[in-house]
Amino acid sequence: MSDPKKLFIKTYGCQMNVYDSERMAEALGGQGYVETQSVEDADMILLNTCHIREKAAEKVYSELGRFKGLKAAKPDLKIGVAGCVAQAEGEEIMRRQPLVDLVVGPQSYHRLPELEAKARAGEKALDTDFPEEDKFEKLKSRPKAKRGPTAFLTVQEGCDKFCAFCVVPYTRGAEVSRPADRILREANELVERGVREITLLGQNVNAYHGAGPNGDMTLAGLIWELDKIDGLERIRFTTSHPNDMSDDLIEAHGTCAKLMPYLHLPVQAGSDKILKRMNRSHTAESYLRLIERIRAARPDILMSGDFIVGFPEETEADFQATLDLVEEVRYGYAYSFKYSTRPGTPAAERAQVDPAEADDRLQRLQAVITRHQREIQDSMVGREVSVLFEKPGRLPGQMVGKSEYLHAVHVQDPGLEAGQIARVRIVASGPNSLAGELA
Ligand code: SAM
Ligand code: SF4
Repeated sequence: MSDPKKLFIKTYGCQMNVYDSERMAEALGGQGYVETQSVEDADMILLNTCHIREKAAEKVYSELGRFKGLKAAKPDLKIGVAGCVAQAEGEEIMRRQPLVDLVVGPQSYHRLPELEAKARAGEKALDTDFPEEDKFEKLKSRPKAKRGPTAFLTVQEGCDKFCAFCVVPYTRGAEVSRPADRILREANELVERGVREITLLGQNVNAYHGAGPNGDMTLAGLIWELDKIDGLERIRFTTSHPNDMSDDLIEAHGTCAKLMPYLHLPVQAGSDKILKRMNRSHTAESYLRLIERIRAARPDILMSGDFIVGFPEETEADFQATLDLVEEVRYGYAYSFKYSTRPGTPAAERAQVDPAEADDRLQRLQAVITRHQREIQDSMVGREVSVLFEKPGRLPGQMVGKSEYLHAVHVQDPGLEAGQIARVRIVASGPNSLAGELA
């Protein structure tokens, strides 16, 4: 038997790309590929790209340029670009970087085996269709090998919201939900392989409305079905839109013990003028009232969010409104970005904020977010949390896992194993993690 071919995948961007990379590696497994962590060993390099901000796309081109020497030394090496840059730029990638043999958009991963064969035959292979067939159904079924205790599971893709800054509706296409039975089958298979925590993924995960046995199922309905799976101990979901936070989902946060007290609910800005221009269709006030209702259902829930500063026409007063909102919510985590012009989106044509001003606002926002994050993390000291251990830490006999609030927790105890869930008393708080002792 010939040696397996080696596949090196580098993943950029969101968790949906992490999930997609796993599925692509599995699809190419059928072509005799095994994954390698060393780019020098690879017979195929696949960059699974992100197009959300300009910098993310440019990084891909500079990374591709670095493969020149590798390809010269190994002419059989195939180089592929997948993900949202592939979708957005298509053939342009091959024109700009002739080293690239294969370009595949996020809706065509099930066609990777044919594309790989075409590339192996020396042809350029490109597929950026939005095909009719369901890629998840066509993808090779997942292998049975044991795996780590946490997994992502995509339940919904695409977006119909068209926020004025965002490329997702163009690169990922219209919003589509996977049927519930297929998700539940995949979840059961993951649990059989050792998974104890599943994070349901979607660009608008709480807009989920997949076909179920009695008509469409909501995300809350799906969570309650997952709740019945023995061996699955924790459920999370991301990313949610404030407008799709339905009553049954809020209620599930108070009543479903497996649903973790953590919610990523991006607001983007605190000024109603800016929110309107972003086409977000919620106000700062409606967002704050929503969080009140969520906290009434689950008082200890840890909130997380996304922010854009320097959106076209954002004034200092608009930015202050964002700071005020952040002060009121107090996020345990938050991701903040400087607005990045995306060609083809409505906001790209508008008057841009001075980049130095936007940088300054980003730093001021991040300072507030970091302060809250640190205060919330420090307030865990002395408390008892439940930790799902994932892997050994850097020190001998140390294990690292996540609390229900998604804080990283280190515990020194040689008896601990990955996949174990234990009560832990937090004894110290560091810059990015907590230290604890078994309770
Ligand atoms: N669907 C999610 C939502 O509604 O918030 C977000 C998906 S997007 C992949 C993740 C984050 O990237 C957004 O929440 C936003 O903060 C940021 N983002 C998207 N487009 C951006 C742009 N043009 N410039 C800067 N940040 C952007
Ligand atoms: Fe992009 Fe999220 Fe807005 Fe959809 S809802 S357009 S994914 S930011």
